[in-house]
Amino acid sequence: MTTGLPSWISPVKSKRFSNEPPVPRLAETEQYMIQCSNCHRPFDPQAGGKSVASISGSISGDEFIESYFFCHHCQLYTVEIYHDRFLGEESVSVHGPIAKAEGDAKVQLINQCSRPWDKKCRCESHLTYFDGNLD
Ligand SMILES: [Zn+2]
Ligand SMILES: [Zn+2]
Repeated sequence: MTTGLPSWISPVKSKRFSNEPPVPRLAETEQYMIQCSNCHRPFDPQAGGKSVASISGSISGDEFIESYFFCHHCQLYTVEIYHDRFLGEESVSVHGPIAKAEGDAKVQLINQCSRPWDKKCRCESHLTYFDGNLD
């Protein structure tokens, strides 16, 4: 103990002035962010841009998750469709813009189901939403 510093102040911490740039961790920083299909503003989950509603269903063994995002600037919906293929790659596609009335109707339908995330749910909402195409 010659520094006179309390033991909990570690002198090592102040020496982190390395010339190396921090290694970018793409998986964490460059996360895919959905944008409004009309004005291309990102729906930032940090800024309350979460999806309004989302529903999951399985068709021919593939899982689909459709999420509705509402842009307050355009008053239009954008739908993100996540498709997890039973045999193969998963993919994400974005559809829109969708008129508010049409999107509202879908969101309302989804909200009538108590388990919209459950791809095995066969309630009225699920059946109507997926138009009888569910497994
Ligand atoms: Zn927009
Ligand atoms: Zn349901």
